[in-house]
Amino acid sequence: MRSFRVFWMALGVLTPGLLSQEGADIGTTLMEDPSVKAALDAAQRFEPQTLEDQIRLCEIPAPPFQEGRRAEALRRTFEESGLENVRIDEVGNVLGERPGQSRRPHLVFSAHLDTVFPEGTNVKVAREGTSLKGPGIADDCRGLAVVIGVIRALNHAKIRTPGTITFVGTVGEEGLGDLRGVKNLFERSLSDAIDRFVSVDGTGPAITHIAVGSYRYRVKYKGSGGHSYGAFGMANPIHALGRAIGKIAEFQVQKDPKTTFNVGRIGGGTSVNSIAHEAWMEVDLRSADKDSLQALEDRFRKVIGQALTEENERWANRGKLSLIAELSGLRPPGRTAESSPIVQAAVSVNKALGLPVRLAEGSTDSNIPMSLNIPAITIGGGGTGTGAHSLDEAFDSTDSWRGTQRAALLAIALAQN
Ligand SMILES: [Zn+2]
Repeated sequence: MRSFRVFWMALGVLTPGLLSQEGADIGTTLMEDPSVKAALDAAQRFEPQTLEDQIRLCEIPAPPFQEGRRAEALRRTFEESGLENVRIDEVGNVLGERPGQSRRPHLVFSAHLDTVFPEGTNVKVAREGTSLKGPGIADDCRGLAVVIGVIRALNHAKIRTPGTITFVGTVGEEGLGDLRGVKNLFERSLSDAIDRFVSVDGTGPAITHIAVGSYRYRVKYKGSGGHSYGAFGMANPIHALGRAIGKIAEFQVQKDPKTTFNVGRIGGGTSVNSIAHEAWMEVDLRSADKDSLQALEDRFRKVIGQALTEENERWANRGKLSLIAELSGLRPPGRTAESSPIVQAAVSVNKALGLPVRLAEGSTDSNIPMSLNIPAITIGGGGTGTGAHSLDEAFDSTDSWRGTQRAALLAIALAQN
């Protein structure tokens, strides 16, 4: 670590509130500092090592709910790079601190450990020139590698930030994981202690400041079932399900904010000549706007109830059906205002480094802080990704150092007062 005083002067504590100053171009201002310059040089120079980390972590399987081995490898890396208070919390998140001059502002800089791929998937990474191929190589092994690359760059330049940075690898970002890692971070591990949050997820230069929220439901109609001919005249769960899907299919939703619905899976029944005893569907409802999502959910709940009533009444309540609607996933929507210091800092950093500025929306770990009105963004980790969530997932590392460099400058910027 650089001496307190030198850095204190160098990193602009003499102009307090650098981050929150109206119109302050924090990216350019910071780059005038020699130690920041050294960190950015290191981010570029050590990119080959960052790519090695990306491959190394990616070849450790991390299926949903089984992130333990990859977490352990990250924990060791955090320890080797000198982070303090390195630990794995009760749900499996890996945390390590890089203390600043003071505890606050406290920045969390994270990426997610889990993948969508089931146990037994071949996770060997094939490398050919600038191309890396393997399940999870971009989403989110790239994010994990960039987190490590940022620590390396800051250490190399002996940077001591005014605020403290906790680096985190989260569990449960994907699908059924339902953001359980980041939820635990804000509810328990670091509750009330996070001032700013960044997730590095996937590739490219984008800045995600709108969180698309979703409700996921598993809906089941149940009855007594019977012979299709002999028991004819009783309510039929599959028919009820069909009524419900028919109503959902006719939903009108707005384009802006984009609001969507999808019946993704259906099932039920035993044979062609049986009245089923149950039928089910899985439904995904999404919007970046809280009120629109709530309105959509209300309508959805109403029509699945209507379908039940109609089917029961159609058969004069013979073999009366029941309905179970279970919420299987909840990702709250949210947004960090474009005018907020954290988004402005990210925009300024991209511009200072000559990267395009692209503001985006998505469903990521940042959904949780955004829904709690804690300043948060998700950024890409640089390079180019293709085929996310498929076995053909690939990462092109051409100029990917620019992503590591952007992340490093942003981390420094967001650890300012
Ligand atoms: Zn991801």
